[in-house]
Amino acid sequence: MTTPQKALIIGCGIAGPVVALFLQQAGIDAEIYESQPAGLDEAGAFLNLAPNGVNVLKALDIDYLLEKDGFHSVGMDFFNSDGKQLAQLESCDEEERFGSRNVMIKRGQLHQILRDEALRRNIPIKVGKKLSGIQLNGFQGVTARFEDGSQAEGNFLIGCDGIHSQTRQLIFPNAPKPAYTGVVDCGGFAQCPPGLSTSGAMQMIFGKKAFFGYIAKPDGEVYWFSNMAWPTEPKRNELNAMSGEAWRQQLLRNHENDPAPVPELIQSTPGDIGKWPVYDLPSLPAWHKGPVCLVGDAAHATSPHSGQGASLALEDAAVLAQCLRDSLKVEHAFSKFESLRRERVEKIVRQARRMGNGKVATNPVAVWFRDLVLPFFIKQGAKASEAVLSYKVEWEKEVA
Ligand SMILES: Cc1cc2nc3c(=O)[nH]c(=O)nc-3n(C[C@H](O)[C@H](O)[C@H](O)COP(=O)(O)OP(=O)(O)OC[C@H]3O[C@@H](n4cnc5c(N)ncnc54)[C@H](O)[C@@H]3O)c2cc1C
Repeated sequence: MTTPQKALIIGCGIAGPVVALFLQQAGIDAEIYESQPAGLDEAGAFLNLAPNGVNVLKALDIDYLLEKDGFHSVGMDFFNSDGKQLAQLESCDEEERFGSRNVMIKRGQLHQILRDEALRRNIPIKVGKKLSGIQLNGFQGVTARFEDGSQAEGNFLIGCDGIHSQTRQLIFPNAPKPAYTGVVDCGGFAQCPPGLSTSGAMQMIFGKKAFFGYIAKPDGEVYWFSNMAWPTEPKRNELNAMSGEAWRQQLLRNHENDPAPVPELIQSTPGDIGKWPVYDLPSLPAWHKGPVCLVGDAAHATSPHSGQGASLALEDAAVLAQCLRDSLKVEHAFSKFESLRRERVEKIVRQARRMGNGKVATNPVAVWFRDLVLPFFIKQGAKASEAVLSYKVEWEKEVA
């Protein structure tokens, strides 16, 4: 970039603050606009940040910030609904193999860490600013309009506003919408039931009617999730209309025949249990238009089954900033960014969809066959994921 530039960043979730931090390293100013009011972080969900995602934070020297709230999973143990172990994966050696270890962390805590670091480095974050319009000003840049009537001007705009991105809808009104995957995910946090072995590995159970995963943090808090088949897309607010107790009873019915401690964890989770219909966004015709570019879930969302969405959003953030640093023109930088990223992310989105379909199978023949072949496929999958997990940002390298 030859002249001073200012980026407008829409969304302060995972990609947004990290794009801003990398842009700062590239000498480009950024302001972040977030629709949520201050302090309203998602409370009920957690993420597994994979080694490739942690490596991106390492490139900013902020991976150590995850240590306070996060913890490492030492592997994954897979069971069928009778409690028989089907497969085991170890991940204790991730540091040597990939440069970083995975981190399990509550979503709200991750948001707060990234946001606080951006603020500490004097990146302005304006909350309660819901993007409602974008005006392209030719060579002059872009104006963002917000629902509260305010507006902001910059040289370019980066849409980091997630899977239901308003930025995407504004610049590509005819683009494919996120696809419902036929799965509803839910989860929460409970206290470790007495006598539960806390091996430090994620326990993955192919239950009779739904999939269940849990891991115990060393301090005894259990993070859990359940995936259930829900073939028709839930109507707007259909899930929220169910009372907390009705939802808990539904989950208990889904898992009533599954091995301990599955029902106990659902029963003992305090408060309402979070629920999220799962979508993905396999492929958009383009990720950018004029001075506007999409990043993270706004451009390509994977379902959670890959455990990669957040890490891909972080990778995007670094690569986009590199492209902007090394290009003379913003549009050239956006094209370069898309060409460097598209193949990798779309492959992962497709793999995640396949994994999700296998998790919620209930047909007895399909279940029998899955249990038979799973040990082989888990090993194959682990080999295939090497390339995904070992990705590292080479920040110093020129890319454009
Ligand atoms: C149930 C579930 C479990 C998951 N588990 C994992 C996991 O274990 N590991 C993993 O890597 N990934 C996981 N993912 C995927 C991961 O959450 C996403 O890939 C990741 O959050 C994408 O980051 P992002 O910054 O692109 O979008 P987001 O994190 O969604 O951030 C978007 C931000 O934009 C804001 N915003 C939205 N609209 C506007 C607007 N109009 N104006 C201004 N701001 C706006 C939002 O409030 C939000 O802060 C999971 C997803 C789900 C749904």
